[in-house]
Amino acid sequence: MTLRDYADHNNNPGQGNGALPAVWRTPFMSITVPSTTPATTSLLSPGRQALDSALFQLDQAADRLGLDDGLRTMLATPRRSLTVAVPVRREDGRMDVVQGFRVQHNITRGPAKGGIRFHPSTDIHEVTALAMWMTWKCALVGIPYGGAKGGVAVDPASLTTRELERVTRRYVNEILPIIGPERDIPAPDVGTDEQTMAWIMDTYSVNAGYSVPGVVTGKPMTLGGSLGRAGSTSRGVQIAALKALPGSPEGRTVAVQGFGKVGAPAARYLADAGCRVVAVSDVTGAVVNTSGLDVDDLRAWVAETGGVYGYRRADALTHAELLELDVDILVPAALEGVINEENASRVRARLVVEGANGPTTPEADRILADAGVTVVPDILANAGGVIVSYLEWVQNLQAHSWSAAEVDMKLRDLMEQSYDAVAETAASQGVTLRQAAHLIGVGRVAEAHRLRGLYP
Ligand code: NAD
Repeated sequence: MTLRDYADHNNNPGQGNGALPAVWRTPFMSITVPSTTPATTSLLSPGRQALDSALFQLDQAADRLGLDDGLRTMLATPRRSLTVAVPVRREDGRMDVVQGFRVQHNITRGPAKGGIRFHPSTDIHEVTALAMWMTWKCALVGIPYGGAKGGVAVDPASLTTRELERVTRRYVNEILPIIGPERDIPAPDVGTDEQTMAWIMDTYSVNAGYSVPGVVTGKPMTLGGSLGRAGSTSRGVQIAALKALPGSPEGRTVAVQGFGKVGAPAARYLADAGCRVVAVSDVTGAVVNTSGLDVDDLRAWVAETGGVYGYRRADALTHAELLELDVDILVPAALEGVINEENASRVRARLVVEGANGPTTPEADRILADAGVTVVPDILANAGGVIVSYLEWVQNLQAHSWSAAEVDMKLRDLMEQSYDAVAETAASQGVTLRQAAHLIGVGRVAEAHRLRGLYP
């Protein structure tokens, strides 16, 4: 059974997807890579679509790099995939069981690194795709990590704080054997935050018998967090956007999809740079004010009401309309696959800077490239988060701390160097920024495999 057959069986029993496959066979399974975006994409789960996109991007890079089938299969196959049951006692005494996942896609260049997502529709395919993107991202920005991701299929908004803590601690207990500061270091992602990281650090430390701050990043400052970590992904988005923008940022219009840990500070950073943030959305709705939104006032509204919906100093618009606004910069900062074959031709932004992982499907990539829209890809644009996570981990291992200015300088240097390397490769090879970023990231991991050789 191929990985695709397996996915189809689980997601859409009895439905094929019309892809034109290249197949890499292993004794354990075969990885089927779509050579085009499947015609029946919408029938697949969002997670399966994300994995298809990730495999497609890997395949494109492997072709250009001339990788042999064995190495391709190695790079397409996660080193470890763990699915766990997470039983949770609800406040009324009932017991629910939810699924949890941790995928270590690659550990050839260092310990696995990647966030943990709490979202009702997360599945093993989505987590695998996100882990794969982490591998290329860490290699691209030159930090000594492999890629991982975790997820729990739960809606955090439906749980009380105590239920959330129990889910977190039980999930961590189930994945305990494969995480640790030298093995795999989780971080926040969609639906998780500093408090979640504090519970993870505590659960791991209680089991170890001593405090292990380096097991997780994105922690509160009191527990060994780093200055600058909270806004780091967004600061990286700002740096990438300013590098990609021709001319001055002054007065450039911005729309942000997703007003969470990445999107809200990204709006603030872009406003600080002189841009005019005209529209933002979150799960509750979307708002627009062509004269410019007061980002701090909107953040206060969200803190008070739980979402952007109903914000009084703006007009309402639909989620779909936000993505199609005539703006200079569009920052998708929510979930995967939001710019796709169906809506890409209506995107009017000149520049798309991917705060989210996987927001643009390969088919949409082609449409945007044909229309002359520049896309700064996720593995570059949102790398600021893992860069400062790495700095947090280094500080934890050394029991040391850097000032906010030192952290910001290191973040800016790595982001700018990585951006320049990607732009140079794109120009010299005549490819998009995404293809260039994958050529560098995949190429470095492939090189690490070649140098280490194959055991035994
Ligand atoms: P978050 O949970 O803090 O925020 C997600 C936001 O998206 C929320 O405001 C939510 O309401 C909104 N949202 C959800 N569905 C939406 C929809 N259909 N339309 C509009 N908005 C919607 O998550 P986050 O940590 O900000 O992560 C966002 C993205 O950035 C994810 O793709 C994540 O993988 C990526 N990312 C996060 C980090 C990090 O450090 N947190 C680092 C790199 C990449």
